Amino acid sequence: MSTSPPGCLHVVATPIGNLDDLSPRALRCLAEADLICAEDTRHSQQLLAAKGLKRPLMALHDHNEESQIATVLERLQAGQQIALISDAGTPLISDPGFRLVRAARAAGLKVSPLPGPSALIAALSVAGLPADRFAFEGFLPAKSSARRERLQGLLAESRTLVFYESSHRILECVQDAAAVFGAQRPAVIARELTKLFETVLDGDLGRLINALQADPNQQRGEFVLIIEGAPEDADAALREGQRIFAALREHLPASKAARIAAELSGAPRKVLYSAVTDESA
Ligand code: SAM
Repeated sequence: MSTSPPGCLHVVATPIGNLDDLSPRALRCLAEADLICAEDTRHSQQLLAAKGLKRPLMALHDHNEESQIATVLERLQAGQQIALISDAGTPLISDPGFRLVRAARAAGLKVSPLPGPSALIAALSVAGLPADRFAFEGFLPAKSSARRERLQGLLAESRTLVFYESSHRILECVQDAAAVFGAQRPAVIARELTKLFETVLDGDLGRLINALQADPNQQRGEFVLIIEGAPEDADAALREGQRIFAALREHLPASKAARIAAELSGAPRKVLYSAVTDESA
């Protein structure tokens, strides 16, 4: 009785700009893969062509991932080596692949990482902001009201915050962040990393807004926005403010309760008050 060698789903990081950042091991894995699942096959074809590779590609993106899973699992079960790549960077990180990886693991199949570029790690490595504890928040909502609400929820977060952003919204996004966190909060914009127009702007949110407005070219390309976390005691102040607010609200109108709770705790009045308006919305 012959048994086929075990199949493996290789999750392969690809460059975020500079094609030389494809590791030798990633190159070998792609060259030997029976199949490469790619977010956009035309885009990935260019990477393969630049590296002199010709391998079968299968599209696997947000809109067809679920329906492709059965086929990929069957091929893995038959012993095939399958690579998963996205358009740039590490698959699954604000990119497709999560459902496939979950299904492969649930089926007891081998899933192996081929680590390499990721914009968030590249940005953190040069930002000069604390990188020992950070919260990756991916893309913020496109609408300003939803974006501010998401940012409000992060007001007391003491870990460094990391966001992805595209050129259409970078200015609005930094403006909203300044409105919520204050213009003095230290922040960094890492733009077009590893590419020709790589720029890392630093300072505080107010300064970043000025820099983006002063030079519209700074609003072009791909961005990672990194914002320093709130001081540790902001978290404690918010919890204390919420506790006082909850007690006062039994006896006072919400706006008055929020004002007193803010005064006593040091937590922002708006945030305490918005908890009630959100509840009643
Ligand atoms: N999976 C990718 C990774 O590991 O970084 C991220 C994919 S996500 C769809 C694309 C976003 O990543 C861009 O909108 C931008 O925010 C960020 N990004 C990708 N390449 C970048 C680069 N060269 N410089 C700065 N940000 C980049």
